[in-house]
Amino acid sequence: MTETADFIVIGGGMAGIGAAARIAPDAKVIVLEAEDAPGRHSTGRSAAIFVTNYGNDVIRAANAASFAELAEPPEDLADTPLLTPRGEMMIATAAEEALFERHMADASDTEEISPAEAVAHFPILREENIARACYEPAASDIDVDRLLQGYLRLLRRQGGRLVAKAGVQAMDRRQGVWHLQTSAGNFEAPVVVNAAGAWADEVAALSGLPKIGLTPFRRSAALLPAPAGYEVSSWVAVVSMSETWYAKPEAGKLMVSPADEDPVDPQDAWPDDMVLAEGLDRYAQAVTTPVTRVERSWAGLRTFAPDRTPVVGFDPAAEGFFWLAGQGGYGIQTAPALSRLAVALIRGESGEAVLPAATVSALAPNRLRS
Ligand SMILES: Cc1cc2nc3c(=O)[nH]c(=O)nc-3n(C[C@H](O)[C@H](O)[C@H](O)COP(=O)(O)OP(=O)(O)OC[C@H]3O[C@@H](n4cnc5c(N)ncnc54)[C@H](O)[C@@H]3O)c2cc1C
Repeated sequence: MTETADFIVIGGGMAGIGAAARIAPDAKVIVLEAEDAPGRHSTGRSAAIFVTNYGNDVIRAANAASFAELAEPPEDLADTPLLTPRGEMMIATAAEEALFERHMADASDTEEISPAEAVAHFPILREENIARACYEPAASDIDVDRLLQGYLRLLRRQGGRLVAKAGVQAMDRRQGVWHLQTSAGNFEAPVVVNAAGAWADEVAALSGLPKIGLTPFRRSAALLPAPAGYEVSSWVAVVSMSETWYAKPEAGKLMVSPADEDPVDPQDAWPDDMVLAEGLDRYAQAVTTPVTRVERSWAGLRTFAPDRTPVVGFDPAAEGFFWLAGQGGYGIQTAPALSRLAVALIRGESGEAVLPAATVSALAPNRLRS
């Protein structure tokens, strides 16, 4: 039996569920997810932080356009804010001062602070290693699970459906309709939304389309116990200026990432012991307390297009094939704006009600098709 919909979204991560929830009021939408539950891959492995000044200009526009929906969500999405103020600090060694200057030149809502103030925000930092520091007070923790569940609820309330264990194995287009074969049966719709995260280029290949050039990069993280004698819950997130490590409080402990960026094939990512150990060593050199134990470690994939800008729009090379991929390290914080943009473009609108025209063009897949 084949189930028919107006839209089929491939991928049940934040991108796919967010877009499907916004499509559902107007149309029958089905999300196909390969795993047994949504959010198992990148979405469930993020650092869960919203930083306005993170990413290139296109990302920053999407960050800004997403903030309100996360800070004061509409009641159909969540009944309390999805952001909790955390604050984020970048610290530069003497060798990183030029990078610091460049960062400050185009950062908004960020103030330079003294090394002593930096230590007040994250008391185990070695003050003598800090040449410059800056602080973004509005940076916040994102309640990723509540955001995902909110989108899922919205989707279901409007008649949409998530089918788990439904990895798309083959697809082709006949007479204006995409036909998809999955491990959970066959589906068809005139439009497919490719929100398959690290696998998005593989989904394009299944459709007979050339790949767009996405690369998944592995990023690892470790959960460390709070340093002895410290209560870390109110500390800020701290990032080394050249992004060689970062740390943030996580449920009374510290999450530390080596900020690794190793290109890998799409996969269920796992941290590399050596990469983790080297990253923890970089962190250990910046702080006054030793790393005694790793309680848990994990890795996920941050998938980037060659210009490190997401890919949102219809593919000029195939009718009814819509891309919502390449969100890199920003796919949670940009999900509200990119979901709304996806739906606007699918409806044939310009998208300018969501993001400025130049940003919409910068996101369009045709930039990557010659
Ligand atoms: C360590 C780490 C830290 C991060 N920190 C942050 C952060 O602080 N803030 C932020 O905004 N972002 C952060 N990110 C990035 C963010 O997690 C991603 O950009 C985002 O989760 C991408 O969502 P997605 O839905 O595109 O991908 P995914 O969540 O990976 O979802 C894609 C889904 O598609 C499914 N799929 C693939 N192929 C098929 C198929 N053929 N058929 C059916 N289903 C398929 C997969 O099973 C998967 O569930 C971080 C990422 C990592 C790894």
